[in-house]
Amino acid sequence: MENHETKKPLVIILLGPPGVGKGSQAEKISSHLHLPHISTGDILRENIKNSTDLGKKAKSIMEEGKLVPDALINEMAFDRVEKADCKKGYILDGYPRTTAQAEVLSKHLGKDADIKVINFFASDETVATRISGRLICKKCKTSFHRAFKKPKKEDVCDKCGGELYQRADDHMDTVLKRLQVYKEQTEPLIQYFDQKKLLKTILCEKGMDEIFNETLAFLK
Ligand code: AMP
Repeated sequence: MENHETKKPLVIILLGPPGVGKGSQAEKISSHLHLPHISTGDILRENIKNSTDLGKKAKSIMEEGKLVPDALINEMAFDRVEKADCKKGYILDGYPRTTAQAEVLSKHLGKDADIKVINFFASDETVATRISGRLICKKCKTSFHRAFKKPKKEDVCDKCGGELYQRADDHMDTVLKRLQVYKEQTEPLIQYFDQKKLLKTILCEKGMDEIFNETLAFLK
């Protein structure tokens, strides 16, 4: 969905702690606005699965709940957003995650994009509960939850029949580390984008549809 007035691509950046529901909202925005959903976490996991050089470098860092170095991530993200399907815009889920990444991205985009940033917010308690019950489809990456979004058949994806699994970094000890890393390294981006008047905070202690409606209202 490029902006009809400016014809600039729409770049939607989703901020928020792990487990807040960014990925699920990104999927909904993606199908509603016909923009690709770009999750740096998913790209990294794909690299790990395929044992690429990047995957080998990222694996242990991700398992510890830490951040993969900025230079690797920036290169990987730019490679992706230069693809043809990103011409009209795209949704960034999990990128940028540090001030250094945000600065490189802002420079890369310059004035050639309409940037909208959504800060999804929920309490630590809520996100820890959500994340530790999360199940992901190995095939199509759709997420489910042991308590809140149960698949019809245990451990089987409703959408594609793929096998559901719990991500290695969704175990409670790693979740706590990821929340700490989020607070230290990613939360400063809220102020960074707020100062540029690009950001809207949406509280996520409510139903997915309500969150989605608020999200769309901001994007229109
Ligand atoms: P996610 O699927 O977004 O929760 O990301 C899973 C893991 O991938 C994170 O805990 C980081 O180790 C790594 N990762 C994903 N995106 C980034 C990023 N923008 N910068 C650094 N590391 C990242």
